[in-house]
Amino acid sequence: MEDASALDTKPETPSGIVEEATTNKAHGIRTGEQYLEGLRDDREIWTKGARVADVTIEPGMRGGAETLASFLDNQHTEAFRDTVTYVDDDGDRCAMAYKVPKSKEDVLARGRAYYEWAKWSNGMFGRTPDYKNASLMAFASATSFLAQGTKGNADFANNMTSFYDYARKNDKVLTHTLVNPSVNFQQAASGKFSDKVALQVVKETDAGIVVNGARLLATLGPLADEIEVFPSTLLRADEDNIPFAFAFAIPIATPGLKLMCRDTYDHEKSHFDAPLSSRYEEMDAVVIFENVFVPWERVFMYGEPHLCNQAFNTTNAVIHMMHQVACSKLAKAEFIVGILCSIAKATGRDKDLYTKGLIAEVMQMTESVRAMLFSAEAQSHEDQYGNFVPLRGPIDTSRNVFPKMYPRMIEIMQMLGSSSLMATPAEADFSNEMSHDVQQYFQLTNLESKDRVALYRLAHDVAISGFGTRQALYERFFFGPPALMASGYYDLYDKEPLMGRVDDLLAKA
Ligand SMILES: Cc1cc2nc3c(=O)[nH]c(=O)nc-3n(C[C@H](O)[C@H](O)[C@H](O)COP(=O)(O)OP(=O)(O)OC[C@H]3O[C@@H](n4cnc5c(N)ncnc54)[C@H](O)[C@@H]3O)c2cc1C
Repeated sequence: MEDASALDTKPETPSGIVEEATTNKAHGIRTGEQYLEGLRDDREIWTKGARVADVTIEPGMRGGAETLASFLDNQHTEAFRDTVTYVDDDGDRCAMAYKVPKSKEDVLARGRAYYEWAKWSNGMFGRTPDYKNASLMAFASATSFLAQGTKGNADFANNMTSFYDYARKNDKVLTHTLVNPSVNFQQAASGKFSDKVALQVVKETDAGIVVNGARLLATLGPLADEIEVFPSTLLRADEDNIPFAFAFAIPIATPGLKLMCRDTYDHEKSHFDAPLSSRYEEMDAVVIFENVFVPWERVFMYGEPHLCNQAFNTTNAVIHMMHQVACSKLAKAEFIVGILCSIAKATGRDKDLYTKGLIAEVMQMTESVRAMLFSAEAQSHEDQYGNFVPLRGPIDTSRNVFPKMYPRMIEIMQMLGSSSLMATPAEADFSNEMSHDVQQYFQLTNLESKDRVALYRLAHDVAISGFGTRQALYERFFFGPPALMASGYYDLYDKEPLMGRVDDLLAKA
């Protein structure tokens, strides 16, 4: 396992990146090349029936790695540096999502950083590192919560702040895996896990714990440095569930940790032919733990289901994650509006009532997300740890409705795109013996043939391709099962005053 001594290695400064005199460059944000170098380790990644030797050159994975590397480089540029990073008390420049918000202005600064990160992929690289950084910041600044853990001499709060500093000062890219697989829905619904498949502690030693089993799912897993293994499903506070109750983080390259990837959607096409999947394949993987050793220093909760059940809510990690999500969904929704308007203009249908009505529906969804985000940020307030959080209600609403909005946006893109989404000759057809035909037959009133094909290939990658379909599935589920999120929302909603008004009226009758 890497340790904090890695902090002492001074990174090289690649060309084209602004060098800062004011900060201690031994620590803090990394360059893309440093990130890629870190991925070249012993990680056990499986895809297409074989183990991957090096994710940074693996066809179908390398595109995503290169894209994320370019985003990390952006952190160093004059254009973005002040938006997406901050200088900490040691003079180290770190990612903004790690900054503990001590004022409303800090919350707003964090929001601007999330939005900027999301714009780099127009929301199509869903799991940018700021998502996990936001949650880690919240856990590390809610130490009194973790300090309630009572296992032996373990200092869970200190373990968390050390991990936060390690990840922050080394600009580590994190993924997480929260959900146990189940073999029987009734068993899962009754709050019990299957010891055949669910991740559980099988051994405890003076040095740490040994875990065995599987977890669903780790987006970005193969391209991350570290994985957080936290509880999200509610655990019944029952003796049987103690082996399933824990939170820890380990490097992806930990012995015994295996990531089983889905098929890639990046078929190594050109950016013209596959504008999104050639760039933003972030990969999802089932995570298998074969007797994986986790040292105590990396354990944050253990054997206490009641603590695990409260973790994301009581630390407010879930609110900070919702904030990142609302900002990134706004960038994504704006992009969808942009594509739809470009299609309408290209076809001359931007004067058509039906077309405008459909696009207006997407515009209204986009503006709803913006309004909810604005409302939450404007009503930021101090929490029980002395940190500032956006108001939960509006961004909780956003995270509950966006999974329904996004599939509707895609449906509208399919309705407006129709057969043009299939009229997609390849880039090569513009320079082979078909070039005259494609120039002739693919033109539109307001677009040259090649530009039309480029636009519809983009729409295809959003609304039709394997990449696009996975995006829709991601939006439906990545934050958890919709029914469970809605149930939590219902529980938190301030219902009493509204029911009181009903009672008042009925009392008058
Ligand atoms: C693309 C993608 C990326 C993901 N990335 C990650 C990741 O990085 N890390 C991670 O930890 N997880 C990730 N997930 C997993 C995600 O957290 C789960 O998909 C989600 O929590 C739902 O759990 P499940 O898939 O087991 O579905 P299930 O819980 O089996 O749900 C299936 C359906 O049943 C419904 N349902 C479930 N319980 C109930 C109930 N009690 N009553 C009524 N209906 C119910 C659900 O709403 C859903 O419609 C990802 C998922 C996807 C699709």
